[in-house]
Amino acid sequence: MNKELLDKVNKRRTFAIISHPDAGKTTITEQMLLLGGVIRSAGTVKARKTGNYATSDWMEIEKKRGISVTSSVMQFEYEGKRINILDTPGHQDFSEDTYRTLMAVDAAVMVIDSARGIEPQTKKLFKVVRQRGIPVFTFMNKLDRDGREPLDLVAELEDVLGIEGVAMNWPIGMGQTMKGLYDIANHRIELYHPADADHRFLPLNEAGRLDPDQPLADDPQYLDTMDEIELLEGAGAEFDREAVLAGKQTPVFFGSALTNFGVETFLQSFVDLAPAPAAHVVNETETLAPDDDEFSGFIFKIQANMNPQHRDRIAFVRVCSGEFSKGLDVTLARTGKPVRLNNAVEFESSARVQVSEAVAGDIVGLYDTGNFQIGDSIYAGKHKVEFAPLPEFTPELFMRVSPKNVMKQKSFHKGMNQLVQEGAVQLYRNYQTEDYILGAVGQLQFEVFQYRMKNEYNSDVEMTSLGHRVARWIDPDQLDPKMSSSRNLLVKDRFGNPLFLFENAFAERWFHDKYPDVKLTEKL
Ligand code: GDP
Repeated sequence: MNKELLDKVNKRRTFAIISHPDAGKTTITEQMLLLGGVIRSAGTVKARKTGNYATSDWMEIEKKRGISVTSSVMQFEYEGKRINILDTPGHQDFSEDTYRTLMAVDAAVMVIDSARGIEPQTKKLFKVVRQRGIPVFTFMNKLDRDGREPLDLVAELEDVLGIEGVAMNWPIGMGQTMKGLYDIANHRIELYHPADADHRFLPLNEAGRLDPDQPLADDPQYLDTMDEIELLEGAGAEFDREAVLAGKQTPVFFGSALTNFGVETFLQSFVDLAPAPAAHVVNETETLAPDDDEFSGFIFKIQANMNPQHRDRIAFVRVCSGEFSKGLDVTLARTGKPVRLNNAVEFESSARVQVSEAVAGDIVGLYDTGNFQIGDSIYAGKHKVEFAPLPEFTPELFMRVSPKNVMKQKSFHKGMNQLVQEGAVQLYRNYQTEDYILGAVGQLQFEVFQYRMKNEYNSDVEMTSLGHRVARWIDPDQLDPKMSSSRNLLVKDRFGNPLFLFENAFAERWFHDKYPDVKLTEKL
């Protein structure tokens, strides 16, 4: 054990925010960045989304569609802790990207619009978080508007998501009548409109009530809230840190990101309660402690052309052990080759700065010239370290793709290679003709691909939809190219493994009937 390193690791909090689009993820992120002092005024992150702030020209597509396509990383210091926020795209077509991002965090914050409750995308993302088994903290947002009954909202967590919600605070009024928060965890009331900033909090007495001479003590909203608190005290769940860490219980906080109400209280509790980076399983069976002396990490995201002026490519590494330093020599586990990490950056809001110090939990951006792939493990020291592979979604939508201008093969291939390495889409080749076929989980992935090919690689592409297809891999020893037809197109994946793209489940059954001895698998 390395005490000094462990102290640093224990100061890290690395999390992702998940939400249905428009629940307020961007707004709450921005408030946190404000609290962390990395941005000076509200509107910076927001503006990026609306396009006044050109972080990257291809975010144009986000602007046009009003959705968040990328996941970005933001780091800041707060109350002696180093916070890493990993943003995730809200749109379901990018769930694979979100999935990979969730592999790199130790906790998740789930933002819910209190007027809408749990929406479809929240449900989907939650499922992923659950599989990861990481703790989830819930923020019920938009309290400044009339929303659903708080008791309903908490009950819905259990009914729809199957996770017990435990209230950490409770609204006093809502919308027009909102007065504040009854802060159960901190034993105080937080006022929505304090007379002055120094008197934001009212203390509670032993019985957990306001003394009669306090403002609000005879306010009808407050009295209603007290009735509900009594109900909760009788029947509500009790906070259980173990259950939270095991992902069985979620602490619930109410607030309003837009009016910056309850966000600080939330962040303080989160920083206290969320886990520091933990050990990882490596080489299938070994446990690697975060304070192990030797550096290790894995690449969960690659993004080209984040900065249109530089046209560079960044590989995002989640550090899992040891300490990063400039010029560190590591081994790339996939190839066994040495790589020197000379040029690494971290992300403070929109700015990139040279990494000063990075330990387990931190995210480091490496300038990449094509060495890295998503899921790669890197390690210093002699002992090989390989992290579990990142999950891959099997694509369901397919497109045939070719350059519009055959004279521009070079830029077509360059763009194609880079975007495939990023994991933006999957690439297949027709087994016979070698034609390019792209696979994706969602339609929007193709649109982003096409847009980026044009804008970043100056390559107009022709795309012809093959529609929904069922991908099934076949053992090469059993393969006879004559098995292929238009209803079960034979292709190979980027590693050369053969698979069929069936038109539908019916075509797959037909194939099974015809070739009963041939075994097909859903994934390799
Ligand atoms: P995202 O898609 O989850 O990132 O959501 P945004 O942060 O972009 O918010 C979506 C919309 O909801 C924006 O118009 C925000 O101004 C608004 N919004 C966010 N938080 C609040 C809030 O607490 N109260 C109200 N009234 N509106 C909010």
